Amino acid sequence: MRIPFHKPYITDEELSEVLDTLKSGWLTMGPKTLKFEEEFKTYVGSKYAIAVNSCTAALHLALRAANLRENEEVIIPTMTFTATAQVVCYFGAKPVLVDIDRETCNIDLAEIEKAITPRTRFIIPVHFGGQPCDMDEIIYMARSKGLIVIEDAAHALPAIYRGRKIGTIGDITCFSFYSTKTLTTGDGGMITTEKREWAEKIRILRLHGISKDAWKRYSDEGSWYYEVTDLGYKYNMTDIQAALGIAQLKKVDYMWERRKEIARKYTDAFRNSKFIIPPLEKPDRVSAWHLYVIKLNLEAITIDRSRFIEELKRMGVGTSVHFIPLHRHPFYKNTFGYSLDDFPSAEWVYERCVSLPIYPQMSDWEIEFVIESVCNVCKRFER
Ligand SMILES: *Cc1c(COP(=O)(O)O)cnc(C)c1O
Repeated sequence: MRIPFHKPYITDEELSEVLDTLKSGWLTMGPKTLKFEEEFKTYVGSKYAIAVNSCTAALHLALRAANLRENEEVIIPTMTFTATAQVVCYFGAKPVLVDIDRETCNIDLAEIEKAITPRTRFIIPVHFGGQPCDMDEIIYMARSKGLIVIEDAAHALPAIYRGRKIGTIGDITCFSFYSTKTLTTGDGGMITTEKREWAEKIRILRLHGISKDAWKRYSDEGSWYYEVTDLGYKYNMTDIQAALGIAQLKKVDYMWERRKEIARKYTDAFRNSKFIIPPLEKPDRVSAWHLYVIKLNLEAITIDRSRFIEELKRMGVGTSVHFIPLHRHPFYKNTFGYSLDDFPSAEWVYERCVSLPIYPQMSDWEIEFVIESVCNVCKRFER
């Protein structure tokens, strides 16, 4: 592939930070993880930040801390990665999938309202592609019904909603540092919250339910004694991952600026196209631009989305699809009986969406090449 869908931006800073950790003799969760948590929470402006080994773990712990129970319901947009809903099933609870807004691909407010029942406990909005959801309306709705809002911010570092950074708005926010995300530690995740009680519970749950700071037992300040106070998990971050995170966080703003620039170039090129619908950015928020998702105007071309992706691949441009809506997957369909007719907007988007490459190391020439390739395929298959 001449232009892969994604390349992580790793430079000498990451190498030297990781090397420093390897030489230090402390590899698992320790001083670097603490430092990364401190710097992360300063960056987003949250009161607490707890590092874990994935966003999936973060979502699981968030629901545990806020006490999701069997047979309760959690409202989730169908246009997301399986992790968002899977963690709900761990509790024997039900992920109630709802439709999205066609323009932003974010959860549809009217659909949330319709989905609320006496069993509903949580709403998990997903900031699709990095663009924040309508958080004021979601939180207002949640407060009036006594629901808790956990944000799936896997795409949304950094992103701004009405002047506030994502990570400071909902009750709990979960970030991903998976290899393709906007900041990577290989795999990893972070939980932010303003509530001390939840932060403390999550800290204990992420390492076997061992009482606070017991992992320090191998360091000079610790002792051999510890107590298991809860049914916890092995979800801690390692200092090797945190070292990557510390180095990546230093350039997170630079990487964001570069993605914004790429998004601007794409949108300028596609704005007047009769073949392509570029993504819409609402004026009161700033996207992280983790993804740049175009929608094909199928009325103007003779091929479908799959063929479009095939043609781009043949020209050397890597793409992806975000997402195959959850209601289409056999697990969710068979377990909960969802049908395609229940999600007309997600279906409409799914037929048309293609995610183009967007990452800081793309050169101007590569951006141009992607634009030209997209336009070339459109022209060749004009209806
Ligand atoms: C990547 C992703 C996740 C899962 O993140 P991991 O760190 O891989 O567990 C969750 N939700 C969404 C929307 C994602 O894109």
